[in-house]
Formats: sequence, structure tokens, C-alpha cells
Amino acid sequence: MKLGLHFRPSRCLRSSALLALAGTSLLLLHLGCGSRHPPPGVLLISIDTIRADHMSVYGYARPSTPNLEAFAADAVVFDNAYAASSTTGPSHATLFTGIYAPRHGVNANAVVLAERHHTLAEVLRDEGYQTAAVLGSFVLDARFGFAQGYDVYQQDFGRDEGKFDIQEWEGIAIRDGFDRRATVVSRRAVEWLTRTRKPHRPFLLTLHYFDPHEPYRPPIEYARRLAAGRNNLGAGYDGEIAYVDDEIGRVLAALDKLGLAKTTLVVITGDHGQGLTQHNDPYHAVNIYEESVRVPLMMRWPGRLRPGRRSLPVEQVDVLPTILGALGIGAPEEIDGLDLGVGWRSNEDRDLASRPIFLYRQFYSPGRKLRKVVLGGEQFAVRVEDWKLIIAEDERRRELYDLGRDPGELENLYDARPAVVTRLTPVLDAWRRYVTAPPGQRILGEEERAKLRALGYVE
Ligand SMILES: [Zn+2]
Repeated sequence: MKLGLHFRPSRCLRSSALLALAGTSLLLLHLGCGSRHPPPGVLLISIDTIRADHMSVYGYARPSTPNLEAFAADAVVFDNAYAASSTTGPSHATLFTGIYAPRHGVNANAVVLAERHHTLAEVLRDEGYQTAAVLGSFVLDARFGFAQGYDVYQQDFGRDEGKFDIQEWEGIAIRDGFDRRATVVSRRAVEWLTRTRKPHRPFLLTLHYFDPHEPYRPPIEYARRLAAGRNNLGAGYDGEIAYVDDEIGRVLAALDKLGLAKTTLVVITGDHGQGLTQHNDPYHAVNIYEESVRVPLMMRWPGRLRPGRRSLPVEQVDVLPTILGALGIGAPEEIDGLDLGVGWRSNEDRDLASRPIFLYRQFYSPGRKLRKVVLGGEQFAVRVEDWKLIIAEDERRRELYDLGRDPGELENLYDARPAVVTRLTPVLDAWRRYVTAPPGQRILGEEERAKLRALGYVE
């Protein structure tokens, strides 16, 4: 017998014990409240420009993320997590709203997230949460709508806090600093947790670490550690990741010290990857190949989430509904993602293994070339199981890859596998029609998603 039990733990936690039966395995979830248990917290960490495959927690051979490896031992780790796009602004807008990039309208950096959307911080603030964010970069400045729902939004960059020394970005004058280093983000995070957080209130603390973004200038000890035995190419990027890993470790240690580790849902993810010259692109925002969009996604809530690795493909739109689902709070109607809570039971992981994953990029620096391709316009992609179809009409690119046999996306099978193209094309077309429909159009529910799946994929 299987009991489908949905988490309804929070608001003010009722003193109760819930049993969840998954197949034959028994999960005991003791949900306490009352004076002995502080209210829940959410620590949402977004690491900029983070390729999952350059993190040792995701199998990278160099020790780039020892702290996150320790964290992962007690966490749900999604091995196939995708960012919504390969650009900072669009991906963060999706992370904050649970809506696909073409639908929320932030299709490039410096585009404003509309007020009408309900962000995670707005939903939690309405539930009585104290909300704060510490930013790593001006790219997420409040003027672009990212501060919606935050009581405190720390975006005051000092000239000496970061590594960028620029006076202008996307046509906007940068008067103070543009970014801040991981050390400063973590110091401010710990200060907020220690001094500003109100112990009787639940909280959301969002942290954005910008360091892995080029240029790579990690503190020398990290550069040395990650450079051992090779030339320096690549060590700078890995060094920045190791530096962020250490600084996240500092925040996690503070949670422990403050007695908050057990009551805090910690979510660690990223906004996009980095080309590192694969497919001719050293950076990001150009392609939606795997290196540009595969990011970490890990969630830890001791005693509440069952730790383990999950292979089902997941997307950035899922993060908001999954956080709210774990907290027992309803998600806004407009969202596109799934509450992955259902996926924590292995039988449903299997059901979701063939769900389509959608990717999007709009290029906004006209005139640039990548080898022979003039960059411009939109790219759309869908992944279904091991197949990935990429369509970029403006760049005259139609590509199909078998990620199982060709994870580096080197052999375009578009012409060689017409049956697969025929199966995936309607799935992507249906999604494109959906995401480009005018605002107010009926939202995509689970039923519609199921239809979409069925359109191009037969189980
Ligand atoms: Zn970014």
C-alpha cells in the first residue's frame, strides 16, 4: 500500500508526526513546533556561472567543492538540473518566479521583471517570513525587479569589494562598485543571520555568489590548489569555485552554530554554466549546450527531506514550487514548474524520467560572430530522455544530439535521425506556442504538460 502524502508542515508548525510510506520504505518525519523548535528558515544560494561538471560534488576530478560534498551527504542532490537559460537575468527571474524565461519576459540582462509576477520572496513575505538578500553583482540590481518581496536587499557595492572595475554596464552608469566577493557575501549573510534575523519569525535569506564569473581572479591559495599538476588554463575558474565553496561552508557553519541547521531548508543552485571554449564559446549567454545550462541543485532539510542522488531531469522552474511544497505553502497559479517533492519517492522519479526539459536563449549583442555563425535571435531547445533538439532559426541552426552517447554534443544527428526529430519537434513547437502566448492566457497545468509530453513522446 502506498500513501500519497503531501508535506503540509509549516506556517506555524503543528506538533505532529507524519508518516510517509513509499513502497516498502518508511520515512518518519517528525514535525515539531512549539517553543522548543524555532520557525523554519529558507537559505537560497545562487552561484553565478557554475558548471555542475566542474564541481567535485558532481564528479569533477579536482577537489573544487569539498564543503558542498559534505553538505551533499545530507541533501537531495539532483544530478540532471538545468538552468532556464544561459544568461544571469533571465535565469534568476525564472528562479525567483518559477516561470519560463520567454513568459516572464526577462529575456536578457537589464530587462525588468514585471511587478505582476509573484516572486518566492513575495509569497513568503505574505506568509510572515522575514526576507533578505545579499547580492554578488549589479546584474540583479533592484531596478530590474529582482528585489520584489525582500525586506532587505543588499546591493550597495563598495569600490573595493569586488573584482570588476567598470564605469558602465548595459548603458547604465556604475557609480560605485559592480560586484562583491564571496567573502563579503558570506560575512554579510552571517551578520544578518546573527543580528538582524528575528528568532520568532521564519525567514528567507537569498545569497548570490558572483565569483566564478569571468575574469578569474581567485585568492591565490585556491588558484594554487586547483592548478596542481596542470597549466593554469581552467585553474582560475576552478579556483573561483573552490573559493565560493569555502565561503558557503562558512555560512553553513554559522547555521550550525546558531542552532538553525535542522530547521532551515538550504537550497543551492546556479544560474548557468560556462563555455570554457567548448563549442567555441569561452563564456556564456551564447549557447544552450550542456556546459552552458547544467547547474547544481541540492536541497537539505535534516529530518524532512530524504537525502540521496536523484537522476530525474529537473528545471529551474521547479525550484520555487518545490521550496513552497516542502514548506506546505501553495504556489502561485502562474508558475510553470513542478513540486519535485513527488520525485522524492523513487517510483515517481521513474514516471518523471521522460519529462521534457526546455531551454531558451535570446542573444542581445547583435553583430557578434562565433566562427561562421552570426549570433542573433532566439534559440530554443528541448531535452527528452537522452535526446536534445536545438532550434535557432535566426542562426540557421537545427541540431539533434544523443546525450547518452555524445554528452559533449559534438555529432549533430539532425539529418541522420529524422524519426527522432519528428517526435521532438511538436513538443518544442507546443512549448514555443505556450511561452509566447500573450500574458493572461491559460496557464500550463499538469494535464497540459502531460499532453505536451504525449505529443512527441510515447512511453
Ligand atoms: Zn550569471
